[in-house]
Amino acid sequence: MRKLLLPSALVLSLTIAYAARKTTRDSLASAHLPPAAILALQKIDVEHIRAHVRFLSTDLLEGRGTGQRGGDIAAEYIGTQFWLYGLKAAGDSGTFFQKVPMVGVTPTLETSFEFAPNKGDALKLKPLEQYVAYDQTQETSNDIDAEIVYVGYGIEAPEYQWDDYKGVDVRGKVLLMLVNEPTSNDPNFFKGRALTFYGRWVYKYLEAARKGAVGAILIHKSEMASYPWEVVRNSNSGERSLLKTDAPQLKAAGWIQLDVAKRLAQRSGMDLDKMIEEANSSNFHPVTLPVKLKAHMVSKIRPFSSNNIVAMLPGSDPKLKDEAVLYTAHYDHLGIRPDMPGDNIYNGARDNATGCGILLELARVFAQSPARPRRSILFASVTAEEQGLLGSEYLGKHPPIPAGKISLDLNFDDVPPLGSPEETEVVGSERTTFYPTVEAMANQFRLAIRPDSHPEAGHYYRSDHFSLARVGVPAFSINEGMKYKGHNNEWGMKEAEEYTNKHYHQPSDEYSPDMDFTGDAVMARFGLALGWSAASQRALVGWQKGDEFEKARVQAQGSH
Ligand SMILES: [Zn+2]
Repeated sequence: MRKLLLPSALVLSLTIAYAARKTTRDSLASAHLPPAAILALQKIDVEHIRAHVRFLSTDLLEGRGTGQRGGDIAAEYIGTQFWLYGLKAAGDSGTFFQKVPMVGVTPTLETSFEFAPNKGDALKLKPLEQYVAYDQTQETSNDIDAEIVYVGYGIEAPEYQWDDYKGVDVRGKVLLMLVNEPTSNDPNFFKGRALTFYGRWVYKYLEAARKGAVGAILIHKSEMASYPWEVVRNSNSGERSLLKTDAPQLKAAGWIQLDVAKRLAQRSGMDLDKMIEEANSSNFHPVTLPVKLKAHMVSKIRPFSSNNIVAMLPGSDPKLKDEAVLYTAHYDHLGIRPDMPGDNIYNGARDNATGCGILLELARVFAQSPARPRRSILFASVTAEEQGLLGSEYLGKHPPIPAGKISLDLNFDDVPPLGSPEETEVVGSERTTFYPTVEAMANQFRLAIRPDSHPEAGHYYRSDHFSLARVGVPAFSINEGMKYKGHNNEWGMKEAEEYTNKHYHQPSDEYSPDMDFTGDAVMARFGLALGWSAASQRALVGWQKGDEFEKARVQAQGSH
């Protein structure tokens, strides 16, 4: 079977076909691929992925900022590709574009932010160096003069018998809190070392606003956030986009740097280390500091709309085509920062031109396949991921096919161009009924399933599949693990660490001709095999019993 001159894609797929024939009936049921799918697999071209990544991350695309010209050009490019492939437009009124109404908020230099103790001098903070804060109300100016209440982790989670608020009325207050969640190795307590949604800043701001607080300030500690201050700063400087909303919002949603938090604690006659320690007890009770936040929040407000780019390949089965498998990859990145000296374009080659390249190549081979899966396939390149998963949140709330009829969302975000992977990370897939297929397929692809490399970083809640999970759709990202052909584990881990520390959300996340997209192509083929299977299986994919998203799934499926 093996001819040396065959492209590796063909060898791999023949291997799959061959192995599938030879396996027992049981594993055949979960890993069998029809000939059309194998043909489509073979057509995935690593150089196509490279070409998309290169184009999407050139300086001309200006970092694909949400609501910026570069982001809109990327959207046009992706929509045009979908069109050329012959896919059906699945956006607004017969177009590939799903309009996402947003508001851009830029804090201006008039903004002032200080901690004013009851006695002594105020601590005036320097923007970006010491603090970042956005006014989420979508108003041009707001004044805050409010007591600061330390609320530990700021989490209310009845399922873990945890409540940092203890019923204390925080209306009109500014909440000071820790990022992450109480530390524990007990898998039944906030999923042990793994981070849950409760540990994410998104949750903390939402909960604070829901409780009527006027502000929420997170204390940045690198180990706890699992990313350095530069990431907070780069993600929170310049314009920030919000979904247009009438829901209650914070006048100041921000972060302070660790040293500032230490000084704030000192001025309150407290010790930060002790405060952090106390927050780990379920007996923790909110503490009102003898310090107020006095802030004058002045923002430039720019209403605009951005777009999700959505295409569909209708399924071959007259009934099942009303159901779908969804592929997602965000196209936005951090844009351009004209005020920054030196290289100020956040090209986002890995994050996430790679995912877009994979999505586009998948769209092409699906569209050009002579035979189609029974369910429809949706392709969505979403906007404003870097602004807090906003494009996918909007897509989840306004899906082209009802959420209850979307079997599965497979997401691609930041897939390293490092060569030939021997592992895959499919974190969250084990929580779905689709896992046996994932295991069987990974086996066919000779990919070992690597458990979450950094469960404490809560990656499951940090990319777009999470927005779909929130509306009940079984969803996970497909990525490489740490082990690559010709290298050991440590090499992969060192590469990952170097990327996180030096390039993640930095202007240096740039395309280079020596990048090796073999792994991106493997992930595309693996994703195609998984998606095709889900689109052909008898039943829709669901969550495992008792999973945190099961309720949302039941709701979504009950409503149609
Ligand atoms: Zn990112």
